[in-house]
Amino acid sequence: MHRVTLLLGGNRGDMSATLKRAIELLGERVGEVVAASQIYRSEAWGFHATEPFSNQAVILATTLEAEALLNATQSIEADLGRDRESELREKASTGERYCSRTMDIDIMFYDDEVISTPRLTVPHPLMQQREFALEPMCELEGERLHPVLGRTLDDLLKELRD
Ligand code: AMP
Repeated sequence: MHRVTLLLGGNRGDMSATLKRAIELLGERVGEVVAASQIYRSEAWGFHATEPFSNQAVILATTLEAEALLNATQSIEADLGRDRESELREKASTGERYCSRTMDIDIMFYDDEVISTPRLTVPHPLMQQREFALEPMCELEGERLHPVLGRTLDDLLKELRD
């Protein structure tokens, strides 16, 4: 059994309902939901958006290998209305690198494995730069040691805020 930490986020539509549905689908398609953080709201990061983002961290126990996990999370994003074509059009029209979305699911940790493939970089390479990722993760596992950086999540969050 593998223990994985995911970060869910979005800023379109009824995010409380979409996050709830995403967690139900993760329970059906990925494995047992071990813990879920509160929902944290924050301003959009890396682009201009009118709606704030909602983020939630979730820990699951799964038998899926990492790429199969990514397939499952991408199918859930698609089923919850994420439309990559329209995102590409929005990015082209605004010239920004990021855009609004209904549901984004990132794999933050997969056990303590360090994975680097064309489709996957785990631990997620930007978590230490993003308060919206670290804050919900710290609620669940602040003492956890980042396998590459060798610091706890609590320390990474503190450093980012200082
Ligand atoms: P995004 O549009 O931000 O959801 O980025 C999705 C792309 O990032 C996908 O094509 C994934 O293959 C890739 N990716 C690389 N590492 C990760 C990760 N740790 N979690 C989720 N997606 C990842």
